[in-house]
Amino acid sequence: MRIKFPVALWVAASLIGPMNAWAQQEDSVKIEATQVRGDIYMLTGQGGNIGLFNGKDGSFMIDDQFAPLTEKIIAAAKSVGGAVPQYLINTHFHGDHTGGNENLGKAGTLILSHHGVRERLQNGSFIGAFGMKSAPASQQALPTITYSDEMHLHINDETVRIVHVPRAHTDGDSFVIFENANVVHAGDLFFNGFFPFIDGSHGGSVRGVIAGVDRILRYTDKHSKIIPGHGPLAAQADLQAYRDMLAQAYERLLKLKNQGNTAAQAVQLQPLQYLEAGWGGGIFTADKWIEVVYPAVF
Ligand SMILES: [Zn+2]
Repeated sequence: MRIKFPVALWVAASLIGPMNAWAQQEDSVKIEATQVRGDIYMLTGQGGNIGLFNGKDGSFMIDDQFAPLTEKIIAAAKSVGGAVPQYLINTHFHGDHTGGNENLGKAGTLILSHHGVRERLQNGSFIGAFGMKSAPASQQALPTITYSDEMHLHINDETVRIVHVPRAHTDGDSFVIFENANVVHAGDLFFNGFFPFIDGSHGGSVRGVIAGVDRILRYTDKHSKIIPGHGPLAAQADLQAYRDMLAQAYERLLKLKNQGNTAAQAVQLQPLQYLEAGWGGGIFTADKWIEVVYPAVF
């Protein structure tokens, strides 16, 4: 699978200087709404994939990309029958999923998240892998309702189940299940088709991602539609393939680490070369990915 523009751009932006790269690009970003099932949509633009659920009780949004895109995101939501969201959930704290919080908070949206997401936003963060520093967020950007394990929303004749997964992509991840519609938003537990970023500087763990994916798999069947944090809309088989890749990679890297190899030595040994063609075309080549996730292998 070849390059995923929004992710690549976010990572490029992170690498070359957080604000500039995407500020220059934002005018050309188009937000596209894809129907997932019924009144549930996936919105793509720049940054993490957005989930949107419209209905008589209002719009519920999952993640909100970057601040300069909020107007376009709301316009896209309206184009498919939605509105300024009544509720927003952040699947985790990363800036490409929470950048629109302040705008939406000011517009009256009620923001929900795991406790840890609020804490990260409130205190600011530093992502070691990209040298990316984020300042503490403003009061309006902070989630006002937080939970520890699980929360249910009963809206638009649907049961929306929000489930926290410990130590996975970060230490504050959640995924979201639409029980009746059989749709899941996986957050960044799932990068569909390419090696994922796993944030070792904020409690991320490869083993935790695998465990989180296993939990999602238990909620899905062959009819499920899965919105990944990054990459195209997926089916259960795509998530299973991703899980199998991660488990193989984890086993190989853990072995090298336990033998005392540093990340640089592990790269030299080329343990993931056979996965390069299938998974190395997104954000990271196999070599780069080993460097990035090595601290999260344990
Ligand atoms: Zn993320």
